[in-house]
Formats: sequence, C-alpha cells, structure tokens
Amino acid sequence: MKTQKEFIIKTNLLLIKHFGIPPRNKKLPDPLDMLIATILSQNTNDNNSYKAYQNLKSHYKSWNELYDEKRTTVEKIIRVAGLARAKSTAIKNVISQLNRSTGKISLDHIKKFSSEDAINELTKYKGIGVKTASCVLLFALDRNVCPVDTHVHRTTNRIGIVSEKTPDKTFFALNKNFPERIAHSFHTNLIRLGREICKPTNPSCGICPLLKICNYPNKNFDLKKEGLKRDFMLLDNVNRETYGDKR
Ligand code: SF4
Repeated sequence: MKTQKEFIIKTNLLLIKHFGIPPRNKKLPDPLDMLIATILSQNTNDNNSYKAYQNLKSHYKSWNELYDEKRTTVEKIIRVAGLARAKSTAIKNVISQLNRSTGKISLDHIKKFSSEDAINELTKYKGIGVKTASCVLLFALDRNVCPVDTHVHRTTNRIGIVSEKTPDKTFFALNKNFPERIAHSFHTNLIRLGREICKPTNPSCGICPLLKICNYPNKNFDLKKEGLKRDFMLLDNVNRETYGDKR
C-alpha cells in the first residue's frame, strides 16, 4: 500500500467483505442525546449503557429538567452503566456549562461548525474527551470522522495503518487525511473485528479477513474460533424506534 489513505480504503473493503456494510440510523439523533449516550457508554457494554440511557429518557421529558436535578439522583438512575458518579458528574457539567455559555440546553449550535471546531468546542466541556466528541460528530452530525476507542486504537496499530501510543494520538494520525464517506463503516467494523477476532490477547489471526495486509509481528495462529457475534452498537441505536425489537 502506497499511502495511509489507500491502506484505510483496502482495510475497509476487506472488512465490508467479511462483516457487510454496518446498518445506520436513518434519522440522525439529536447531538445532545448522542453526547449523553456516549458518556454513558464509557467503560461498559452497549446493553448496560443503553439501559441507563433509557432510564434517563424515561425519567425526564427534556434534558432541561436535568439542570435543577441533584447529581446524586442522576447517579442512581444511571447506576446500571457503572462509574455512575463520574458519569453523572460529566452529564451535570455539560448541562450547566451549556446553559451558562449558550443560554440553552442544546448542542444545535455545533451543527454549523467545521469538524475541527466542533471537536475543539466539545472538548472544552469538563469530562468530554476526543473520543466522546468524535462520536457526536460521526453519529449525530454525519461527519466523516472516525472515533478511536480501545478497539480502533489496538487494531489500527496492529494492522500498521498508524503507529501511535494512545487512542487520542491515533485519532489525529488516522483522521488527518481520512478517505471520503467511509468513516462509519470503517469505525463500526473495526470495533467488531476487535471484539470478535483481533482481541487484546490471543487474536485469532488464522481467521482474520485482514491477515494478508496486517503488519502485526506477533500474529497468533493457535485459535481458529471467531468470538461471539457482537454487532449491536449502542451509538447506532440512540433513539431508534426499532430498538425494542432487538432486546
Ligand atoms: S491478522 Fe491478527 S493482528 Fe492482524 S488484524 Fe487480524 S487478528 Fe489482528
């Protein structure tokens, strides 16, 4: 592969051949809904974070009601997501900072921002990092930005698309010249690859669709079994009416 862009395109094609094109929400969710769902998704599985998100949604008619709510009450409501104290603090911070800086509890103003400005704006909020901000851009604003979580960081570095030490550094290295229109499928299929095949320890290289192009020097051929199919992605199901069918 001559360039990083070509490497990403080739990887994306092989992943689509193996996993298919990941389905997307037809209607883009509200950016603040997405931000809150992403905060809840940190360090937990998609099912538990979705339950916490649904709990919040059923308690409050609008996020405005969170402004006067006690943080400890929010903590109780989202407990199933884990790290409830930190997550409730981050959510309350976003709500009060939004109210203070824009006079509204809404993220509609970032729709007009460039992707770079939107990331800079969102990461000003306490408790919001680059990964959370970039998820809002991809899933709620349909920007061609590839968020980097632990799976995307591990797999892109093993494959050799980037060579970076932290997820945030991987994010900037990966996105500096990202190929048009493929961020959603690339991001989503890499998460599946990381969950099912390219696991943190003992990756199943023998059944990996990227075996021929991957530069990882410590490939493992002992395991030939694919992990359980784990294709439910919370961030593609925020406010999706058909979600109930999946439970
Ligand atoms: S070949 Fe192995 S190390 Fe490379 S992406 Fe596939 S599972 Fe991961």
